[in-house]
Amino acid sequence: MITSKQCLAKFGEPSASNKCMTLFDVPTELEIGLIPKKIYCNRLMVEPLKKAFLNLKVAHKVNELKTWDGCFNIRKKRGLNSMSLHSWGLAVDVNAFENQLNMNPRLSQEFVKCFTDAGFEWGGTWTRKDGMHFQLKSL
Ligand SMILES: [Zn+2]
Repeated sequence: MITSKQCLAKFGEPSASNKCMTLFDVPTELEIGLIPKKIYCNRLMVEPLKKAFLNLKVAHKVNELKTWDGCFNIRKKRGLNSMSLHSWGLAVDVNAFENQLNMNPRLSQEFVKCFTDAGFEWGGTWTRKDGMHFQLKSL
């Protein structure tokens, strides 16, 4: 799992103008349903996100995306002291309304697989369940 310590070492302090950040222009053919047209995220997220969205399209799971709850957001992990990977644009949240922290996630296995196959780790399997959360698996 990527730690905030690794991120600090690799990218430095999180900020909107950090060189690791980019405005990812989602390819037109992947702009389906609620997939955003542009995502402000870490450069390392561009290819994995493209892959995940393509997987959703191929698996006919795009409609399961009901809310896009963001990527870049400088903050600590909820209730903890370390920085969330959202601070470096390395995580996305989806369907937050029904996948709250410590709740049993409602995302289907097929939906989750679209992301895990694309190089993401899913918070829904953590001891402290974070079902809305997908973060890059490795740097
Ligand atoms: Zn998250």
